[in-house]
Amino acid sequence: MILMNDFAAEPEALHAEELAAAGRVLRSSRFILGPEVQRFEESWARLCGTRFCVGVGNGMDAIELGLRALNIGAGDEVITTPMTAMATIMAIKRAGATPVLADIEPDTALLDMASAQRCLTRQTKAVLLVHLYGQLPDMDAWLEFCEQAEIHLLEDAAQAHGAIRGGRPAGSFGEWAAFSFYPTKNLGAKGDAGALVTNSEDVTNRVRMLRNYGAATRYEHLESGMNSRLDELQAAILLARLNWLDRFNRIRRTTAARYFAALANPHIALLSPPAEAESHVYHLFVVRCLERDRLAEHLKTNGIESLIHYPIPAHRQPCFKDMRVDSGGLPNAERHAAQCLSLPCHPHLRDEDVSTIIKDANAFA
Ligand SMILES: *Cc1c(COP(=O)(O)O)cnc(C)c1O
Repeated sequence: MILMNDFAAEPEALHAEELAAAGRVLRSSRFILGPEVQRFEESWARLCGTRFCVGVGNGMDAIELGLRALNIGAGDEVITTPMTAMATIMAIKRAGATPVLADIEPDTALLDMASAQRCLTRQTKAVLLVHLYGQLPDMDAWLEFCEQAEIHLLEDAAQAHGAIRGGRPAGSFGEWAAFSFYPTKNLGAKGDAGALVTNSEDVTNRVRMLRNYGAATRYEHLESGMNSRLDELQAAILLARLNWLDRFNRIRRTTAARYFAALANPHIALLSPPAEAESHVYHLFVVRCLERDRLAEHLKTNGIESLIHYPIPAHRQPCFKDMRVDSGGLPNAERHAAQCLSLPCHPHLRDEDVSTIIKDANAFA
């Protein structure tokens, strides 16, 4: 079976580095918020081109903590996309704010600016952009949009580790950016982990406090916070894997380039190629097909796993009642949810695996 993620196929050298990192922590006497976390925070901020990084428990918490740090909560609206991991929406709700869903562009599945414009109200405090599948949108245009509207630009960069556009890395554009290091992300831990990056000292201090019960110093709690700390084991493993991120992202791009060059089936539509060579890190390689479920079945019969990101847009989720959406509806999101399919593009695919996927996808009738 050709898998969507194949940890067993990772290089032995990486495995050895992870074991050494884990051993270092197990032999230490620090397990939460220690030197490994500090080193990782410094390294991750450097890679993101930001002054600060705060390690937290997971990506969803990073978003909630970031919103709380900006005092975005009850009565405030945050414009975002229905085509995302539901954690994005849930984090906004957990912060007490109201998510407002704008439609997506059909050819990238990223947030549509005209639709976001229609969603603006006096209560809008921010646009939370999701760098879906690993793609960075035209961030200059979004910065301009948010400046005009006098709202914050925020980044959910949980799928875009290492993407670069106009020379700037994902995470460096917004007031803050949230990252998840869930194991299958381009940079993944061996458990849950996340981080928030920012240039704001205020946001940094507030999130550092909020992640640890709102404690400013030991015993003194300035506000009622969360328990969302990054642990030493995950930080040490992330440090080891960080050295491999660039290499793995390059392999993902090479695989995507092969798909673009060779996928040729009138029943399968590709999304837009990236605006710049490095502006997409192919967390996922997504195609569209009117008979998506039959295509997935066809691939499975030929030993190829595929997944759907995402079959149910946020406004159709049973857990979200009466979601606020663009007055024009969300037709592009609906269509994308019905047609999208993610093909394997993890960095341990062999050349012949990619050839097999292309051959079998092209044979789908
Ligand atoms: C994975 C992901 C999250 C959630 O991260 P967790 O670490 O699982 O909480 C949020 N947003 C997006 C776009 C994601 O892909």
